[in-house]
Amino acid sequence: MTPSVAIIGGGPAGLMAAEMLAQAGRAVTIYDRMPSLGRKFQLAGRGGLNLTHTEPLPRFLARYGPATLVQDAVADWPPDALRAWCAGLDEAPFVGSSGRVFPRSFKATPLLRAWLRRLAAAGVQVRTSHRWTGWTDEGALRFTTRTGDLEVQPSATILALGGASWPRLGSDGSWVPLLEAAGIAIAPLRPANVGLLHPWSAHFADRFAGHPLKRIAATFEGTTIRGEALITKGGLEGGLIYALSAPIRDAVATHGTATLTLDLRPDLDPAALAARLGGHGQSLSNALRRAGLDPAAAALVREIAAPGQLPDRVKALKLQITGTSPIDRAISTAGGLTLSNLDSTFMLTGHPNLYAIGEMLDWEAPTGGYLLQAAFSTAVTAANAILSGVTEGGHRAPIVIAGPDPATQAVAAGIAPHDETPAG
Ligand SMILES: Cc1cc2nc3c(=O)[nH]c(=O)nc-3n(C[C@H](O)[C@H](O)[C@H](O)COP(=O)(O)OP(=O)(O)OC[C@H]3O[C@@H](n4cnc5c(N)ncnc54)[C@H](O)[C@@H]3O)c2cc1C
Repeated sequence: MTPSVAIIGGGPAGLMAAEMLAQAGRAVTIYDRMPSLGRKFQLAGRGGLNLTHTEPLPRFLARYGPATLVQDAVADWPPDALRAWCAGLDEAPFVGSSGRVFPRSFKATPLLRAWLRRLAAAGVQVRTSHRWTGWTDEGALRFTTRTGDLEVQPSATILALGGASWPRLGSDGSWVPLLEAAGIAIAPLRPANVGLLHPWSAHFADRFAGHPLKRIAATFEGTTIRGEALITKGGLEGGLIYALSAPIRDAVATHGTATLTLDLRPDLDPAALAARLGGHGQSLSNALRRAGLDPAAAALVREIAAPGQLPDRVKALKLQITGTSPIDRAISTAGGLTLSNLDSTFMLTGHPNLYAIGEMLDWEAPTGGYLLQAAFSTAVTAANAILSGVTEGGHRAPIVIAGPDPATQAVAAGIAPHDETPAG
């Protein structure tokens, strides 16, 4: 009998690891605290499941900043591999206008359904409503289920527990204290790709929350992004805002506030704008209308009391950002299990046969398909390591013998399927 693998977390990272291992004949069980798998993956597909991106690989890899371990995993299982995998599920991907890659049906649900069918056919066992709560003194995995506690002693474990955004979909970051108790370093979880807070007047918030600011540009610390933002009750959100949210989040953490500069007419140069705004003697409303600002953008200029000439207030409107939206509304999570805990196969050093993959690791990247690509690629690397049985330095991964009874030892030695014992 082949050694068994427990995968905790049935998001895209866990499912991809399960597929690789099961296709190679391993006995795989996925445990998830939710009643069904891939809930955040499904939400991600609501506005179009952006799986990956077509930009040149060096530029793609640079999106992961200093996380070279993640870069290496993506280089080994790159966007082309992800596109081929997607096509294999009868969801031949297509490339959107910005180079982003989507499955044929645009949504996540058809892809997820086909994927779960493939996993079932490969023999993957699924245990939903199983919340992982740590290890027993003997090193067995401990779960809380609807019918009581359960202990499991697999030959290898992959943690694919996600970050802490949208906790009601499953990933709630409750694994942090469990790993910290085992002496594993965790960087604080922080919101990433997230809305920004700016205290509007009650009138502006009531009147304009939900209105888009179209075709604008936003600048922070020398980086300018063009796109669209959405006015919210407490600030701004949307792709343009998410793209700048990481450095703004960090600046607010250091300085208390950060200044975001908006250009509400990036297509007009200052001279052309000044000509449109006209001379003195006309009302502000008229001038802003002549400048081509829609009602929400014009109201924003009036909302932000600022010294200076009108052209500057349109092309360089300064917003004092006071924070980010909470992590439970963020697209993704920064922080997590620090990469220095891991060898190049995503195995935790000092914890043989324990791997961690996906968004629970300490890396971040913008939206654009980089998040899912990393979830998939880190899963493939870890699964390949388990399949080859080789750890860093070329040694065969030691099997943990935990528990005194012969049955447990047989499991740990890889000669019996792993046992699931109701605990206590
Ligand atoms: C609104 C939205 C849109 C997005 N759109 C995109 C997009 O278009 N493209 C893109 O690349 N990314 C997108 N993302 C991000 C993407 O969904 C995540 O990066 C990805 O799901 C992370 O995969 P993961 O497997 O690491 O973690 P998750 O998908 O978070 O899965 C983790 C799993 O672990 C389970 N779990 C957690 N704790 C426990 C426990 N204690 N016991 C048992 N199970 C547990 C959870 O229930 C969950 O099923 C989007 C995210 C959001 C919120």
